[in-house]
Amino acid sequence: MSKLSIVGTPIGNLGDLTIRALDALKSADIVLCEDTRVTKKLLSHYGLEKPTLSYHSHSKLSRSDEIIGLIREGKELALVSDAGTPGISDPGAELVSRVREALSAEIDSGVVKIEAIPGPSALVVALSIAGVPCADFTFLGFLPHKKGRETLFKEIASSERTMVFYESPHRILRSLLSLADHLGPGSKKAVTVCRELTKIYEEVKSGPAESVLEFFEAHPDKVRGEFVVIVS
Ligand code: SAM
Repeated sequence: MSKLSIVGTPIGNLGDLTIRALDALKSADIVLCEDTRVTKKLLSHYGLEKPTLSYHSHSKLSRSDEIIGLIREGKELALVSDAGTPGISDPGAELVSRVREALSAEIDSGVVKIEAIPGPSALVVALSIAGVPCADFTFLGFLPHKKGRETLFKEIASSERTMVFYESPHRILRSLLSLADHLGPGSKKAVTVCRELTKIYEEVKSGPAESVLEFFEAHPDKVRGEFVVIVS
C-alpha cells in the first residue's frame, strides 16, 4: 500500500515533534517539503538523512503530477510544511486536494492511504495560551494586503465571535492601527497578540487595541518574528 502522511512539525521549538511524526519521517521514502532548507534543519536535528522533494516554488505549487506518480508507484511519502500543520495557511492543502482528486479510486479501494499525523498549529497554540473565549471562533488566515482588507476589519469589529488571523512583522503595526480605528476607543473587545510561540521570545500581549498598538510602537525590537492576532 502506498501512503501519504500529512505530518505536523514544530512551529519554533524543535522539541515539539511527536513520536508518530518522527516514525513517519523515519519510514518515509521521500519527505515532501515547502522549503527543503527549512525541513533539512528539522531532519538533521533528529539525525535523519532523507531524500527531500520541494512541492512549492516561486509561490506556486509545483511537481504535483510527479508526486502523484510516486504515490502510484507505491512510495511512502511524508508531507511537511515549513512549520506547523500542513495545509493551514500554507500550500499543503492544495497538494492534498490534487492527490485526493487524482487518486480517489485508489483511496476508496484502500490501495492508497492518506494518513493524519497531527502536530502543533500556531492558530491552536495561540488560542490555548491567550485565555480568550474559544468555544466558537473564526480563523481568517492571512488578511489580504489590499482588496477586501477593510471589509474584513469591519467584520472583525462587528463579530460576536473570537476572530483569529496570522500576521507578518511587516504588517503587524498596520493591522493594529486598523483594529484601533475600527474598534474605536472604549471598545469592549480585547486584542491579543501572540508572538514567537514556543520560541525563546514567546510573548502574549493583550488589552484594548490602542494600548497593544502603543506597546508595539514603543518596542520596535518586538516587531519581529511571527504573530497570531486574536480579537475577542
Ligand atoms: N501551517 C502553519 C500552522 O499550522 O500554524 C502556518 C503557516 S503560515 C505560512 C505562517 C504563519 O503562521 C506566520 O506568519 C505566523 O502568523 C503564524 N506562525 C507560525 N509559527 C508561529 C509562531 N511560532 N508564533 C506565532 N505565530 C506563528
